[in-house]
Amino acid sequence: MSKDFYTILGVDKSADEKEIKKAYRRLAMKYHPDKNPDDPSAEEKFKEATMAYEVLSDAQKRATYDRMGHSAFEQGMNNGGFGNAGGFSADDLNDIFGSFFGGGRGGFSGGGGFGDIFGDMFGGRSGGGRRASKGADLLYNLTLTLEEAVKGCKKDIRFSTSVACETCHGKGAKSDSDIVTCKTCGGHGQVRMQQGFFVMQQPCPECHGSGKTIKNPCSDCHGEGKQQKSQTIEISIPAGVDNGDRVRVSGKGEAGDHGMPNGDLYVEIAVKPHDVFTRNGADLHMDVPVDIVTASLGSDVEVPTLDGKINIKIAEGTQSGKLLRVRGKGVTTVRGGMQGDLICRIVVETPTNLTGEQKALLEQFAKTLHSDNGASAKKKGFFDKLKDDVNDLLKGH
Ligand SMILES: [Zn+2]
Ligand SMILES: [Zn+2]
Repeated sequence: MSKDFYTILGVDKSADEKEIKKAYRRLAMKYHPDKNPDDPSAEEKFKEATMAYEVLSDAQKRATYDRMGHSAFEQGMNNGGFGNAGGFSADDLNDIFGSFFGGGRGGFSGGGGFGDIFGDMFGGRSGGGRRASKGADLLYNLTLTLEEAVKGCKKDIRFSTSVACETCHGKGAKSDSDIVTCKTCGGHGQVRMQQGFFVMQQPCPECHGSGKTIKNPCSDCHGEGKQQKSQTIEISIPAGVDNGDRVRVSGKGEAGDHGMPNGDLYVEIAVKPHDVFTRNGADLHMDVPVDIVTASLGSDVEVPTLDGKINIKIAEGTQSGKLLRVRGKGVTTVRGGMQGDLICRIVVETPTNLTGEQKALLEQFAKTLHSDNGASAKKKGFFDKLKDDVNDLLKGH
C-alpha cells in the first residue's frame, strides 16, 4: 500500500463522513473478492479500500493518520503490528474489524499483521466460531542463577498443556469411520451469508470450517482431540542469556486442533541477584574491599570470577572508588558473542576494633602526616580551598 488513503478512496482530504462511506461502498461492491474470484488484484484493492475506510471513517484514527502521514502508517505495518505507527495498535485493528464485520471475532494476536486478518476474513472465520487452528503458544517463566545464565545449562521444566488425545490420536472420533462429511456445508467448510451490503463467505457453523463432522466422538476427549497433560521436558539454555530473554522450544505449546501443528513453548529467563556480581550487558561489576595498608602500599589481591580466582594488581596509593577493568572476564553475550569485562570497584576499608597497640601505631603515623609531605593531597587541597574562600569573604568578595 503506497498510495495514501484519500487517493485509494478517491476522495478529497476535506471529504466528510458521508462521502468517505459512499466512496468505500462503491469500491467494496466493485472489488469484493466474491465478485472477482479469479482476480487477485481485486482482493488487493478491496483490502486497500477497507483499510483506508476503517481509518478515515473513525475521527480519532483519521486525525492520527492526518497528523502522522501515510509513511508513518506504512512503517508501522512493516514492523508487523502497528505498535510503532503512532496510534495504530493491534487493539485498534481488532476494533476496526470487529465493528465492521459484525463483531465477536476472536482475538487477533499481534505480529501476524494483515495476512492473518484477511486470512481470517476470507478463509472464513466468523464471529464467535471456532476453526481448526494452530495450538496456542505457552510462556514459562524460568529463574536461573547468574552462573547458570552466564555458562548455559540444561533444566527440566514441568508444565501442564493440552496434548493430542492418546486414544484417538487427536482426531476426536471413536474410529476413522465416525468422521463424516458435514451435511450443512456439504464438506466445503464454508457457507455464504449476507453481511450488510455484500455477501460474505462464512465458516460453516456446524463443522467450524473443517468440512467434517464426528458421528461418534472419542469418549476420552469428548471429540476435542486434546487432553490436558502435565509433562516434564529438558530444555537447553544457551550461555549468556539475561533477564527477559526468551528461549523458544518449537512444538511444545498447546496442541493444535485436529491435525494442525502445536504451538510453541517460550521460556522467559529471570536471573536471581548474585551476592558478589552485578551484570550490566556483557560486563560484570563487583566491589573489592581493600585494607588501607594494601591501598596505600599496593599489592596483588585475589578476586573471584565466574571462572575461578584471579589476581588483580592494586597500585600504590589506590583511592576508594577506583575502577579496575579486567578484560574478558565478563559475560559472552548470547547474541553477537560479545566478550565483556569484569569491572572491580575498589572499596578501601577503614579498620575497626583496633587494639591499643594498633591505635598507638596509627597515632604515631598521624604525626608524620603533619610534616606536609603530600601524603594526603586531596585533604590538603580541600583545606587550602576553604582558606581561600574564607580569605575572599574577609576581603569582602
Ligand atoms: Zn480422543
Ligand atoms: Zn460444515
